[in-house]
Amino acid sequence: MALVAGVIRRLDEAVVNRIAAGEVIQRPANAIKEMIENCLDAKSTSIQVIVKEGGLKLIQVQDNGCGIRKEDLHIVCERFTTSKLQKFEDLASISTYGFRGEALASISHVAHVTVTTKTADAKCAYRASYSDGKIKAPPKPCAGNQGTQIMVEDLFYNVNTRRKALKNPSEEYAKILEVVGRYAIHNSGISFSVKKQGDTVSDVRTLSNATTVDNIRSIFGNAVSRELIEVGCEDANLAFKLKGYITNANYSVKKCIFLLFINHRLVESTALRKAIETVYAAYLPKSTHPFLYLSLEIAPKNVDVNVHPTKHEVHFLHEDSILERVQQHIESKLLGSNSSRMYFTQTLLPGAECSSSEVVKSAASSSTATKGTSDKVYAHQMVRTDSREQKLDAFLQPVNNPLSTGPTEERTGVNAGPPEGTVRPRDAEMEDVSELLETGDLVEMADVQQDAVMPGGLSKSGHSPEKAFPRKRPREDTDVQMEEDTRKEMTAACTPKRRIINLTSVLTLQEEISNQAHESLQEMLRDHSFVGCVSPQWALVQYRTKLYLLNTTKLSQELFYQILIYDFANFGVLRLSEPAPLYELAMLALEDPESGWTEEDGPKEGLAEYIVEFLKKKTEMLKDYFSLEIDEEGNLTGLPLLIDNYVPLLEGLPMFILRLATEVNWDEEKECFESLSKELSMFYSIRKQYIIDETNLTHSQNEDSDSGSPPWKWTVEHVVYKAFRTHLLPPKHFTDDGNILQLANLPDLYKVFERC
Ligand code: ADP
Ligand code: MG
Repeated sequence: MALVAGVIRRLDEAVVNRIAAGEVIQRPANAIKEMIENCLDAKSTSIQVIVKEGGLKLIQVQDNGCGIRKEDLHIVCERFTTSKLQKFEDLASISTYGFRGEALASISHVAHVTVTTKTADAKCAYRASYSDGKIKAPPKPCAGNQGTQIMVEDLFYNVNTRRKALKNPSEEYAKILEVVGRYAIHNSGISFSVKKQGDTVSDVRTLSNATTVDNIRSIFGNAVSRELIEVGCEDANLAFKLKGYITNANYSVKKCIFLLFINHRLVESTALRKAIETVYAAYLPKSTHPFLYLSLEIAPKNVDVNVHPTKHEVHFLHEDSILERVQQHIESKLLGSNSSRMYFTQTLLPGAECSSSEVVKSAASSSTATKGTSDKVYAHQMVRTDSREQKLDAFLQPVNNPLSTGPTEERTGVNAGPPEGTVRPRDAEMEDVSELLETGDLVEMADVQQDAVMPGGLSKSGHSPEKAFPRKRPREDTDVQMEEDTRKEMTAACTPKRRIINLTSVLTLQEEISNQAHESLQEMLRDHSFVGCVSPQWALVQYRTKLYLLNTTKLSQELFYQILIYDFANFGVLRLSEPAPLYELAMLALEDPESGWTEEDGPKEGLAEYIVEFLKKKTEMLKDYFSLEIDEEGNLTGLPLLIDNYVPLLEGLPMFILRLATEVNWDEEKECFESLSKELSMFYSIRKQYIIDETNLTHSQNEDSDSGSPPWKWTVEHVVYKAFRTHLLPPKHFTDDGNILQLANLPDLYKVFERC
């Protein structure tokens, strides 16, 4: 059979235009998006959309903008007519939405278009109808308000295939609501409405005096709007600015809702979505997603504006660097938000295992007792950890013994794991403190039962501090074990709602921390592999091909400082079951040569009394903001719980009390919070004293511990360094003050080997 070549014919111009138009306008929602952008370009403050049959029968968009001049009416629907761009170079600096003069023309090729418009200085409105890009008759004068109304009827009446593809009007209507809703959120200050023709109630309606959050609430509901965190950052070098709202770790949905505007145009960016979702993966339950509304402004010259109108997917210059900055910013915001904490206890004794549903139940049923909130707290939100990031030995500590986070001799009195036995303090002075605190097990619960006497004669409480950071990944539910009769207590201690802190001083301190953050150091800390402790002060970590020596003392100090500032006024309490008299603590400190006390300072007793009286005056603030609790008799009863399973070394307590009274600037708010947090963080940091006598080592280990490493190392690795990954924004100065030292780089080592 002979092949017959087809005859090549030039297509009819109208057909060409129709095909082209069909590419620009694929469905009613596209047309509406283009028309809304025109309304916004025309500086409208009110935009009303009415549709019939999902926009297929009728789309009518009415605005109150600048209108179109009568002289221009005959060409508005021609291709490449625009009032917004004259020469090619303007493309680089375009700030209006439209610039190609293509939208109206395209629409007119696939629908009947009627424009009614009035400019401010025209005496009346004019109306004109269009077909295939051309005006059908000269504009007719008519009555009308300032602004423009564009009516699009019988969309795709002449494109059968497209019309058939869009046979579900309610699906189209849903798309329209989505587009208009998103533009409404992005354009607070402008009122939007969408309704079906004939309906009296609008399906989307925002008011011109509503805020962005109001608009998010009205479109996405309360569940989203109450969990929003405002975001915003900019970078002059990368020439971008980000603003928006994202949900915190409390909110999660099956499908990510991502409203992205780049230079005020609704677009999509898979790269950006993925980048942000990886940040959230650490905070949200598996396979759930956040709500995100982001407005990104990028120097117009860096965005590829000349993409085809249907290409919603955008790309821009410096994309990777910008994504990274956005990720970092979002991470820091999520860290800072850390809302709705739960505190609960785990039993030290083998208790009844509690299934996850029971946890939910008990937490929920107690909610009335906890400030009347009805928010459910699920098991996975209560105990969280990241199994992927843990070494095997992280699990060798018995699950029902959460206190096995490395109790050391210094911590014997404190909340220590049951079987580690007694370890006596090394010197007499410390013996005093130890006695003082020995019976006073530090636990976070107010009324703990002294329900077990542990080997070595130490009295142990049946509880341990544990709190859930929503910013961590969920631990297996099976890890949640609670003793039946302590459940009530546990739930009573819940603090379900995070207090929002708007103090300028605190916000400024937070900002100072985030401004100081060093990107690559943070990356290193986040993704490091822990190699081992050199001493309590120094540890080795590996990151990529490099080996680093880190100053655990300084880094942990910074960590606790940042937690104190970011979680300001939102701490749990490590409660001493037996109050520790401030007077005795102060006396102990004054006896320490480190205090620098001299005869000239006057008798120690007098000073100690002064310190007690002074601190008693500050109790309300200390308790409210720092969970530092002092009772009326001048006894310390509680300390802030800064990270799970971590209790500061109590040998540092006397000196902390002394410095609290003498080194903190109590006069200025910001300086006060800053210096107080500095003192607390110094007290909480991992310090030299963590070294245990070799002889005591065996005592201090858990009976059943087969991890082989002393508990303090376990704490450093699995509590402190773990917290570095997610909670620490390392300041820039760590790069050059010797606190982070690069020891070796693998590729360099290879070179050495090569020579051998
Ligand atoms: P572009 O927006 O790219 O200029 P369009 O086809 O969307 O192209 O619109 C063509 C022109 O019609 C615009 O440049 C503008 O002058 C005018 N126009 C369209 N819609 C409106 C409106 N709602 N208000 C005022 N002018 C409008
Ligand atoms: Mg336009």
